[in-house]
Amino acid sequence: MPYSTITTLNDSQRIIETRPPTARLGSSACLKHNSDSCPLGEGGMLKKRFGQHFLSDPRILQRIVKFAKLSPNDTVLEIGPGAGSLTRELAATVSRVIAVEIDRDLIPQLRQDLPANVEIVEGDALQLDFVALAGNRFHVVANLPYNVATPLFKRFIEFRKSIADVTVMIQNEVAERIVAKPGADAYGPLSVLIQYYAQPAFGFVVPPGAFRPKPKVDSAVIRLEWRPGVADARDFTDFVHNAFGSRRKKLVNNLLHMYPRIPRSQLLSDIARAGVAENARPENLSVTDFERLYNQICRH
Ligand code: SAM
Repeated sequence: MPYSTITTLNDSQRIIETRPPTARLGSSACLKHNSDSCPLGEGGMLKKRFGQHFLSDPRILQRIVKFAKLSPNDTVLEIGPGAGSLTRELAATVSRVIAVEIDRDLIPQLRQDLPANVEIVEGDALQLDFVALAGNRFHVVANLPYNVATPLFKRFIEFRKSIADVTVMIQNEVAERIVAKPGADAYGPLSVLIQYYAQPAFGFVVPPGAFRPKPKVDSAVIRLEWRPGVADARDFTDFVHNAFGSRRKKLVNNLLHMYPRIPRSQLLSDIARAGVAENARPENLSVTDFERLYNQICRH
């Protein structure tokens, strides 16, 4: 197996990160904050480091909940209730909501204001055990803190056996990458890896004016339904990242860079056996093509 030669990526980024660290997910979404925190009014302070952009438009909140296709007996895990606007809509729709909020300053008000079927958990959603909190079957619905959306997706994938589906607001640009099809500009490792685990559906775009404070970019709601029976595939993750190593290069050249010990002729034969064109570029391959090619190269 040639995988020992693959460079290990930063663990929190490896599943879906496709940008250099300076252009990370969410880095431009909070520019309305001048310093670490800014006044919210009504006595509150918004914290830039927690990616706080709060929604209040009831039509958008209801649209998110409708898009989540929830039923009255459902349990929902919400990441980051903030001031509780989405939480309230969820609580009116399902029997149980567990809302994890990292900002301790928001906790007392949330506990005071929200109905009895909401449990407010103070903590970091990147650390907590979702199953211990919400049980073996729950839905995730959230307006995600964009600055930690990438590692949160990784956690949703890890807990996917217990998560029925995921409906989240994220940056529109990231949503477009998640749902992109082969050949599209937005198609990259993020598209392949999310689509390997899940079938994503694009819901709708939400403009900056819907949030307080306004982010600089559009947001969008997406929904993930897991593909059944997909095994964890850490090596596949590395493989896809490396196959996209240089988008302008042909696939075979990226593979040669990845596996310098495998002769070019062998890689070309693997590409052909996987049913992929010899001169294909990484963005031309479907998720299934990547799976076939990975399985082909795995044999060495
Ligand atoms: N749900 C609210 C809404 O739609 O108005 C707030 C959404 S705001 C974009 C993201 C929320 O996630 C903030 O309340 C923030 O404090 C919280 N948050 C940020 N990082 C978190 C983490 N690691 N774990 C839990 N909550 C987090």
